[in-house]
Amino acid sequence: MIHKSNATVEINLAKLKQNLQTLRTYLDEDTRVMSVVKADAYGHGAVEVASTLEPMVEAFAVNDIHEGIELREQDITKPILVFEVPQKTTASQYRVHNLTATVSAREHFDWLPNGTSYHLNFDTGMGRLGFAPEDSKLVLSLMRENQNLFCTGLYSHFATADSPGSDFVTEQHRLFTTIREQFPQELSAHISNTGATAFYSSEQFDMVRLGIGLYGYSPGKTTIEGINPVLQWKSKLVQIKPIIEQSTVSYGATWEAPADGNLGIIPVGYDDGLKRSLSEELTVRINGKKYPLVGNITMNYTMVFLGDDEYKPGTSVELLYAESNAQDWASKIDTIPYEILTSINPKIPREYIL
Ligand SMILES: *Cc1c(COP(=O)(O)O)cnc(C)c1O
Repeated sequence: MIHKSNATVEINLAKLKQNLQTLRTYLDEDTRVMSVVKADAYGHGAVEVASTLEPMVEAFAVNDIHEGIELREQDITKPILVFEVPQKTTASQYRVHNLTATVSAREHFDWLPNGTSYHLNFDTGMGRLGFAPEDSKLVLSLMRENQNLFCTGLYSHFATADSPGSDFVTEQHRLFTTIREQFPQELSAHISNTGATAFYSSEQFDMVRLGIGLYGYSPGKTTIEGINPVLQWKSKLVQIKPIIEQSTVSYGATWEAPADGNLGIIPVGYDDGLKRSLSEELTVRINGKKYPLVGNITMNYTMVFLGDDEYKPGTSVELLYAESNAQDWASKIDTIPYEILTSINPKIPREYIL
């Protein structure tokens, strides 16, 4: 991959570990943790995140098989669960790379080669992947008929666990309990994501699947105390030029300078993941001082109004930082921090701080 040099993403690995420790305080001592590192660890870099967390967690999860292979090639040895639906064409890869498949339909038993490990997935209300709860007897017999495959777990996924007090979570929990009771006790059962771990802490089974909380964000509007964002996004001013009162900036000429002053050019735009809908919504930090982004964000550039302040080209600009984090960005454009984080272009180099 060709790396960009217009910006850097800083990942604080000490904060990552601290977040895991905070989330563990919600769990019983023997509850295991599966660290979810899909989507390149929500933009944080799956290999580095997994290597850092490997001594502290019991398993990993990724979305697709290629993400799992990448981790194996970088010497991650703990169990890796692949969430995606197995395909006939790639079914042989699970065993080759010692990855755990997700079985959620009858044909998967036929496609996976002898010796493949898998977890069963049940749809208890998410309305996405998984066997229907009423199929549990059939699934149990398929499991017994296919002794050549190794079932090691059983899971489901909550639809509304991002905030406390949801009856729908209670209902899904009840359904999953009923399913779980029909299967051998030695299978590892898991249903909780970050939200269920923090807001429904009596709901755990054998293991939880932690994603967003590890990266320092709460899944919904209710804040989880004691976790902090791991990622910061920085760039540099490439140019500074005088701007006179009432002259306009960027496409559409939507922004007019309120006074004479200086305009800074930042070489980051929506191609980098700085969403265009955030135009005129953000403040960046330069030398500890906040300045507004002005005019429409373009594909590769964004402008900042500096007032009377003068800076040299090359001055560092903080785009995404503690007081203007992915949750703040998300609230402005009606999305969630997950989408902000995974939108940051993977070509921007990640720098790791211990
Ligand atoms: C992404 C995902 C998770 C992690 O969810 P967070 O809200 O990020 O903790 C857990 N389980 C499944 C099946 C997922 O797809």
